[in-house]
Amino acid sequence: MPTGPHRTVPRRAGKALGAPLLSLALLAVPRGAGAGGEPARTAAFPPPVESPAGDAGGPGESREALRVGKGERLLVVAPHPDDEILGAGGLVQRVLERGGRVRVLLLTAGDGYVDAVRHETGTARPPAAEFIAYGERRLGEARAAARVLGRGVAIEVMGFPDGGLDLLLRRLGQPSPPMHSATTGASDPPYDDEALEPDLPYDGLDLRRAMGRAFREARPTIVAIPDPADVHPDHRATAAFSLLALSDLAVEGGRSAPRPRVLGFLVHWPDWPPGWNRAPRPEDVDRPLGLPRGLPRRDLATRRLALTPSEIATKRAALAQHVSQAQVMPEFLGAFVRREEVFREIPAADARGLAPLIADLRVSMPPGAAPAAASLAGAGGARQPPASMP
Ligand SMILES: [Zn+2]
Repeated sequence: MPTGPHRTVPRRAGKALGAPLLSLALLAVPRGAGAGGEPARTAAFPPPVESPAGDAGGPGESREALRVGKGERLLVVAPHPDDEILGAGGLVQRVLERGGRVRVLLLTAGDGYVDAVRHETGTARPPAAEFIAYGERRLGEARAAARVLGRGVAIEVMGFPDGGLDLLLRRLGQPSPPMHSATTGASDPPYDDEALEPDLPYDGLDLRRAMGRAFREARPTIVAIPDPADVHPDHRATAAFSLLALSDLAVEGGRSAPRPRVLGFLVHWPDWPPGWNRAPRPEDVDRPLGLPRGLPRRDLATRRLALTPSEIATKRAALAQHVSQAQVMPEFLGAFVRREEVFREIPAADARGLAPLIADLRVSMPPGAAPAAASLAGAGGARQPPASMP
């Protein structure tokens, strides 16, 4: 049920101090860098390299199998409900089958999908309560989908603003009042019964630290996050916040800090995955899922997880639980039901080495992707990015 228009909680002075920080100097990139013209880039991390044109697969793709050990603890960080299934629904099942445990951390409730809420309500300007109700619905769908995947999948919710994660990332390190969601009007999670920390202000530093707490609690051996090159701003920001949280934990724990494997899954890229805009064909499922040829390589190794017929069927059934999304974009969802899932492994053996990548993520948003206030409302649920995006 909707919780109604949300109240504003004043930011508490002195809150969330003391957590170790990755060098903020590395993150203190100027706002607006990359918001026009050629984005600034750091040199320390291997720069993006455009793959040569060709018919087979994407950049630097290998057929190397993703190995899942016994008793893994998988943490999937998803910007919106359903991303966890699209990107890692098969991996979740494999971890469970091998005796492991799974947590899914949903950063938003997907409550920024303006067109869908307009359609459902029949009004051009739906009130905030309708967006919160939509978010509640999507969270319920995520829990239903998790039950389809198997026992042992825990859903955790941050409840941050759908369509606003990129702005929170850009503001990180700058004193600013909590953000207000352009759709729900909330300045902290309006899902009091579901959010991990319902009084957490919509602030990037608070999100980063809360994610660190969630990561510490989960003690993952594998962390699945959006691919850092995903063109959806929420997805890229989720990748950056996840890497920041991992870096914080690594700095905090020193040599004894756990070193989970970090896998990136791609969801949004222009005209991808193949078949995203047409009715699915029976043979589609048997085709490998090649990464887009234009995807920046960043020297990330590709790992593939071959799914069994049972896992494929269960992934499809789990996706079907996301009824609100299946109603409006069945082709897009169906295009992710393949015989394999593909990930790019982000080297995190030395989390300090992530800093250049994170800094790069903060300045390399595609032009036009910066969430100006007026465009926030439409950004969250956009499935295919605007044509102006690369
Ligand atoms: Zn998403």
